[in-house]
Amino acid sequence: MLKFSRSNAKLEKLELVIDKVVYSFSLLSGWSCPFAKECLSKVHLIEGRRKLFDGIYTLFRCFSASQEVLFPEVFNSRKNNFDILKSMSESEMIEIIVYYIPKNADVIRIHVGGDFFSDKYFLAWIKVAILFPNKIFYAYTKSLIYWIRNRELIEETRNFVLTASYGGTQDHLIQSENLRFAKVIFSEKEAEDLGLPIDHDDTHAYDPNLRHQSFALLLHGIQPKGSEASQALRKLKGKGSYSKRKKINV
Ligand code: SF4
Repeated sequence: MLKFSRSNAKLEKLELVIDKVVYSFSLLSGWSCPFAKECLSKVHLIEGRRKLFDGIYTLFRCFSASQEVLFPEVFNSRKNNFDILKSMSESEMIEIIVYYIPKNADVIRIHVGGDFFSDKYFLAWIKVAILFPNKIFYAYTKSLIYWIRNRELIEETRNFVLTASYGGTQDHLIQSENLRFAKVIFSEKEAEDLGLPIDHDDTHAYDPNLRHQSFALLLHGIQPKGSEASQALRKLKGKGSYSKRKKINV
C-alpha cells in the first residue's frame, strides 16, 4: 500500500493560502536521490536503530532525512513507498499510484522526501498527471536529466510543475538548459542580490502559471555542527522554518 500524507506545516500553509486540498508523497531521502550531492544525507538502519549519515560533499543537511532519523513513522512510511516502487515497471508504478492517489486531492507535492530515482519512475508520474488533469502535481528535483529527456511532454502537461533545486551533481544543466530553479539561500540579502523572490510556503513552487519563474528558499532544518550552514541558520533565527510547532510529514 502506498502512503500519501497531509500533515506538514509548509503544506498546511499552502492549503490555507490557495484554498485547495494538498497531499504529499515521499520516498526515503538520499536513497532515492541519484543526483544529490551537497544536500545528501541518508538514514541507515544499524542493529535496528536509525542513524543519519551525511555525504562527503554535504553542505546543508537534507531536512527530510533529519525527520526520518527523528520519527520512526516517517522513516517507515517513506521506506515502504520506496521499497514498493523501486522494483516495479513503469506501468505497474502508474497502476499502483493511480490506485492509492487521494481522490479528494487538488494538489500533490511529489516528494517532501526523496527524488525521481529513475527514468521510468519519472515518466510514471507524468502519465499519472495526464490521467488526472484536474489535479496539480509539483516537485523539486535534482534528477534533471529525466526532466530534459522528457521536456516536450512536460511542457504539454500543464498540471505537472517542476523546479530544479541546486546542490546536485547535474547543477550545470540548470543554466545550460534554462530550467526553472529554486536556490537555497543563507540570508534574505542573498536572495535580494540574486534578484529572486523568496518562496515561504510553496506558492511559487506549485503554481503552473509561475512554472518558468525561479525563486529562493531560506535555509532551514538541522545543519551539521560548525558548518557554514549552521552559522547561517543561527543568524536567520527561524525565518526559514515553516512552523514553530513540531509537524511531521510521513
Ligand atoms: S535530493 Fe532532496 S530528499 Fe534527496 S538528499 Fe537531497 S534534499 Fe534530501
